[in-house]
Amino acid sequence: MHRYALGNVKLELVQGDITRSDTQAIANAANSMLLGGGGVDGAIHRAAGPDLLKECRTLGGCDTGDAKLTKGYRLPAKFVIHAVGPVWHGGRQQEPELLASCYRRSVALAAEKSLTSLAFASISTGVYGYPFASAARIAVSTVRSATRDDSALQEVIFCCFSDGDLAVYQGILREAAI
Ligand code: ADP
Repeated sequence: MHRYALGNVKLELVQGDITRSDTQAIANAANSMLLGGGGVDGAIHRAAGPDLLKECRTLGGCDTGDAKLTKGYRLPAKFVIHAVGPVWHGGRQQEPELLASCYRRSVALAAEKSLTSLAFASISTGVYGYPFASAARIAVSTVRSATRDDSALQEVIFCCFSDGDLAVYQGILREAAI
């Protein structure tokens, strides 16, 4: 566990499987259908059980750059925030704005529920191909500004799937001297 201070928010880096996170919510890298998929989305649906898919079916999908909240069912987390990141097409199709929007919307949904802790998967950096370090910079800077407002969040975790991913986040947070 690596801890950093981010204004009033404690920011933590954890390497591991987000389905085991005991934060109040976890943010999933979903797709716009919200009907499950591979990668972290598949892992979350498997761990949450079939009721998660049932609830997702009622939501009518989700736009890229937006997020929707469901219950967590069998997960330790009480809620799942399904954020739909952009597919990387080279960076000139608003990918940075859309990715930042995912993080902003996720923090806003957590704020609506007055959640105090939230763990993020690294949105768009798997099958969607977003370059990891650029995505991590956007994640950190967007969460930083979004949590300055009225969010109740006290703890935000960036859940990194590999040691290499964790090292990238560490570098970015050290650079930002937070
Ligand atoms: P996307 O389609 O948005 O790219 P992916 O699920 O393919 O989503 O990948 C997003 C990120 O989630 C990647 O960095 C991947 O390594 C990571 N990941 C995959 N499985 C897990 C998991 N169980 N817990 C945390 N992170 C995961």
